[in-house]
Amino acid sequence: MKSYRKELWFNTKTRRAFINITPQIEECVKESGIKEGILLCNAMHITSSVFINDDEPGLHNDFERFLEKLAPEKPYDQYDHNGFEDNADAHLKRTIMGREVVVAITDGKLDFGPWEQIFYGEFDGKRRKRVLVKIIGE
Ligand code: ZN
Repeated sequence: MKSYRKELWFNTKTRRAFINITPQIEECVKESGIKEGILLCNAMHITSSVFINDDEPGLHNDFERFLEKLAPEKPYDQYDHNGFEDNADAHLKRTIMGREVVVAITDGKLDFGPWEQIFYGEFDGKRRKRVLVKIIGE
């Protein structure tokens, strides 16, 4: 069995952002040489997410509004976690959007449904953060 590991780094200019990382993940699959297997991709930080959904800007605005309704960034003092930090909302948003995705690799490709794309969801950005890609298979 082959095994492949890579870290992808991000540093968003804004506090919150959604980045389509599918091209980078496809590059990892190619680099791994694995044709049949399983790919795991997870955020390595507790204030960012990796998730699968549609690459449609309207939907991304809807996610932003939905998450701000559930866990608004401000006022900062509404959260017990915010004392030395101001990122309680980012922890909560991350929990809703999820930590990781698992995708089947078939015939050397991500075995997606028709509109599936992989996103990095940043909720407390403006600093360097990592995503782990692990692929196992043959
Ligand atoms: Zn925190």
